[in-house]
Amino acid sequence: MSKVALITGSTSGIGLGIAKRLAKAGYFIVLNGLKTPQVENVIKEVKDLGPGEVLFSDADMSNPEQIENMIHMIENRFARIDIVVNNAGIQHVAPIEDFPVASWDKIIAINLSSTFHISRLVIPMMKKNGWGRIINIASAHALIASPFKSAYVAAKHGVAGLTKTIALEVAEANITCNAICPGYVLTPLVEGQIAATAKARGISTEAVIKDVMLGEQPTKEFVKIEEIAELTYFLCADAAASITGTSLSIDGGWVAH
Ligand code: NAD
Repeated sequence: MSKVALITGSTSGIGLGIAKRLAKAGYFIVLNGLKTPQVENVIKEVKDLGPGEVLFSDADMSNPEQIENMIHMIENRFARIDIVVNNAGIQHVAPIEDFPVASWDKIIAINLSSTFHISRLVIPMMKKNGWGRIINIASAHALIASPFKSAYVAAKHGVAGLTKTIALEVAEANITCNAICPGYVLTPLVEGQIAATAKARGISTEAVIKDVMLGEQPTKEFVKIEEIAELTYFLCADAAASITGTSLSIDGGWVAH
C-alpha cells in the first residue's frame, strides 16, 4: 500500500498545493480544513491527480478531541500515517494592547498546539512502521518578528522549537521532523490581512503589498505555492533522511537581512 499523508488545512492555499503535489506522487491523501461549499470540488481535484485514495476530515484544529477523532478515523481506514504536514494556520493583525484575547487563544491553538497534538498521536504509529516524516509549515515569522502579529509570531517561534525537540526525540526511529519557513505567499490568508495591516500601520493597501510584504523580500516577488510543495515533497524522500530538526527558509532572501 502507498504511504499515507495527512495535510492539515489543505482545502486552500499552501496546504492544497502540498496535497496536490503528494497526490501526484502517488501517496494516499487525507485532506483537512473547514467545511465550505467548495470542499467537494477540492476533493475531486486532488483525487484526479493520482492513483491514491483521498479522504477528507473537517476536524477543527483548535479542538484536541476532534484532532484525536480525525487520527482514529485515519488509523481505522488505513492503519498507518506516514507523513504529516502540519499546515493549518490563521492570522490576526492588531497592536498588542488591542489584540483580542480570543484571537490569541485561537491562533496558539491552531498554529501551535495542533502540531503538538497531531505529533503526539502519530509518532507511535510511525515508530511501529519504522518510518515517518513530520513537516511543520512555520513561517519567516518563526525566525524573526513583525509588529502587530504577536500571537502569530509567538506561535510560529513555538513551532520552530517544537520541531527541534521532536526531531531529537525520534532521531533514532527513522522519523524526521522539520519546519518550512515561507515568506509571503499570495493565498487567502495573506489577502485577508492586507486591509488589517493597512489599518494598523496607517498606510494604503497598495503600500502594504509593495513596502511591507514585498519590501521584506529581496526578490520583490511572492513565494509560489508550488515551490513550497516541491520542498515538502523532497523532505518526504529517502534522500532527505538526514535533514531533521531544522528550519528551512523559502522566503526570497527575507531573513538574510
Ligand atoms: P489559507 O487561509 O489559504 O488556508 C488555511 C487552511 O487552513 C484552509 O484549508 C482552512 O480551511 C484551514 N483552517 C483554518 N482554520 C482551521 C481550523 N480551525 N481547523 C482546520 N483547518 C483550518 O492559508 P495559507 O496562506 O495557505 O497558510 C497555510 C499555512 O502556511 C499557515 O500555517 C500559515 O501560517 C503558513 N504561512 C503562510 C504564508 C503566506 O504568506 N500565505 C507565509 C508563511 C507561512
